[in-house]
Amino acid sequence: MRYRGVVKLELSRDLTPEDLEALEKALGEAGLALAKGFRSPEEGGRIVGWERVGRVLRLSVETGRLRIDEASMRVKNSLEVSLGVRRIGIRSVRLEDALVEVEGEVRVEAKLPFVKSIERSGGRTIIHLEDLEERDLKRPFLLRLLRLLSEKEVKAKWGGKAEHWQLIKRSRVKFDPPLFTGDPNKVLEEVGLVKRFSVGQWLYTPLATYLLNAMRDLFLREVVLPLGFREAIFPKMYPLEIGLKTGHLRGTINSMVFCSLPKTYNIEEFEELADYMYVTDEAPPEELAKHLRYPEYFLCYAQCEPFYWFFGSELLDDASLPVKWFDRSGPSFRWESGGIYGLERVIEFHRVEVVWLGKPEQVVRIRDEVLKAYERFMDEVLDLEWRTAWVTPWYYEQSGAVERVEEFDINRPGTIDFELWLPYRGPREEQKAWLEVGNVSIHGTKFTGPFRIRHNRGETLWTGCSGFGTQRWLVAFLAQRGFDPGNWPPALRSYLRENPPPEPVVAITYPKTSAGREELSKLTELLRKV
Ligand code: ATP
Ligand code: ZN
Ligand code: MG
Repeated sequence: MRYRGVVKLELSRDLTPEDLEALEKALGEAGLALAKGFRSPEEGGRIVGWERVGRVLRLSVETGRLRIDEASMRVKNSLEVSLGVRRIGIRSVRLEDALVEVEGEVRVEAKLPFVKSIERSGGRTIIHLEDLEERDLKRPFLLRLLRLLSEKEVKAKWGGKAEHWQLIKRSRVKFDPPLFTGDPNKVLEEVGLVKRFSVGQWLYTPLATYLLNAMRDLFLREVVLPLGFREAIFPKMYPLEIGLKTGHLRGTINSMVFCSLPKTYNIEEFEELADYMYVTDEAPPEELAKHLRYPEYFLCYAQCEPFYWFFGSELLDDASLPVKWFDRSGPSFRWESGGIYGLERVIEFHRVEVVWLGKPEQVVRIRDEVLKAYERFMDEVLDLEWRTAWVTPWYYEQSGAVERVEEFDINRPGTIDFELWLPYRGPREEQKAWLEVGNVSIHGTKFTGPFRIRHNRGETLWTGCSGFGTQRWLVAFLAQRGFDPGNWPPALRSYLRENPPPEPVVAITYPKTSAGREELSKLTELLRKV
């Protein structure tokens, strides 16, 4: 990679003939400053020509490993010192007509900030940059731009496929033939345990809530609490800045739900709209939008974000580590577009989010404990057919460079998915018959870096998290074991005996079909007999 550009400097006063001599010398020093720390001026940078018109200096600069924005600032700082003794100041610095020459033909076509145009020819790519003012030069815009380009390049190369999927372990075959082959999503709706509220949203009646809570409570009792995690309550509406730091705003913006505050608290300003709604009995969203601020928040997405925020800019010592919390205080929201289905893939779902923070070896050890407890939970407590898989991006970022992941190392940052078989979707041999119900991740410094979570002796801190999506666990459990508690495992049955079920909702018109009403009375009868 090589850079070229014109560093334009405005001096604070006109130059006398004696100043001119000093200027030549100062430029020589500025040239040396560009090579400082490098083996040669070619490797670092150099001034290849210059001109002066009145108070304006234009230096043609070429650099190698020294980024051209840094070079511009080095030139400015050096001239400030050497011309300062003659009381000549630098009014402004600007980088003009800059270009970056990259080996290889970068195929990205995207419109990028600070990029004027991209040319490709003869196996190289030339990126022409917009002019950069001093305040842009001081911020790492160019660094990020180049990183972005190389990420896009890598993604384009691997066909946009986001993840590796590698089987780690699978349970033995337990249901041959299957106990149940129905679609629990349909059954739950038919018997009236849930009612569709809006796209991807359900109302869970007390009996549905009872079953969801049974899943969640067993998970807490068997996995989370014995490992020493403590409950916290996290906010569920996040300022955009949080998503900037976690990277979600870049990576998953298409599936986030955003929200806006009203422009004013003064109800009188809404009067016209309120009157309109009164008379027409319609709520026009486009009119409402006029009264709202831009979306400054998004709704809970990964659920662990507030944890990193909390420890952001804090200094921790050995005594305060590791930190082990969980949150189950509210829903997550995701726009799943055409993928929305039943209770499995919804816009509003509930999850137990387990989070931890510590030194790398602590974080890996906790992950291993969580993983082991999960396996026991799937294999013995719920006694289901399960498998685990290592899922990592096709590439990872290491000190600014993007590399392809060739093999996985379980002690490196990455994610393990937990999947359960859904017999109603097909034989267990088929990929599409499996549902991800949860996962466990080690993030490395992905969050401790941007949130600046630090150790008092400068040791590296990592985080980990694990999400248990309650709806998905319930659907998958019912998909394998059906609706007869006689076929449910002892741990769940004894939980149900300790916590008797509430009455179902039965009204003249609810559940909708007579088949549904019949099924419901069978189910409640069976539940009473656990
Ligand atoms: P998928 O690939 O199936 O969309 P994901 O990788 O997006 O899942 P994560 O971001 O890892 O899921 O979220 C953690 C957990 O949250 C999932 O394992 C699942 O239990 C739950 N979850 C995620 N999205 C949904 C959804 N739309 N509906 C219900 N549960 C969900
Ligand atoms: Zn998380
Ligand atoms: Mg998803």
